[in-house]
Amino acid sequence: MSTKRVENGHISHSCRGCGLCCRQKNGIGVTPLDVLNISKLLRISPKDFIDKYCVVLEDVDVRISTTGLFNECVFLHQLANGTCRCDIYDSRPMACYLYPLKMRETIPYYFHWEDNPACGRTKYPVSIKSFVEVKSKGRYESELKHIQKMYAVLEKYLAYRDMSEEKMLEYLYYNDSIEEINRKLDAYLDA
Ligand code: SF4
Ligand code: SF4
Repeated sequence: MSTKRVENGHISHSCRGCGLCCRQKNGIGVTPLDVLNISKLLRISPKDFIDKYCVVLEDVDVRISTTGLFNECVFLHQLANGTCRCDIYDSRPMACYLYPLKMRETIPYYFHWEDNPACGRTKYPVSIKSFVEVKSKGRYESELKHIQKMYAVLEKYLAYRDMSEEKMLEYLYYNDSIEEINRKLDAYLDA
């Protein structure tokens, strides 16, 4: 699989539902906001979600667990017609929303495109901005800044799982608006 940079360009991509991108050796990484969104969907606590469905690498890198010979995401289900379905589709992680666009965590606003031959192509390429807006339903652009800050929170406190659920929700309550989350994170980081 090759990778191709996308800079001010256009992207042509459609999903055939093969599930290949849901089979990754180390699992799909989740942001703190992903953890909260998925926990809410599953009606369990963030801690229980991490304990039950994730692995934590180097204390801060939270990834959805995989299973089987092909490292399938535990939320991937194959349908009778051979296509795949995501059990948490409406709250799937940001990395899944955006695929095949990938963000370099160390370089904000820098994307590369994973040129996966398994994926389909649309007839008319769209701008990256449109692609992101459609794929993320408008979530991504407004959250990007906050995600950077959330990583800073995680780095500051390192042991993600040692942060109590109450404390996490105190700062990152999932019913908060993005503006409210941002305000709280700013206060949190400045404290
Ligand atoms: S690899 Fe491409 S076609 Fe297959 S599920 Fe992922 S996005 Fe869809
Ligand atoms: S969360 Fe859903 S979309 Fe993302 S890797 Fe798992 S099955 Fe695929």
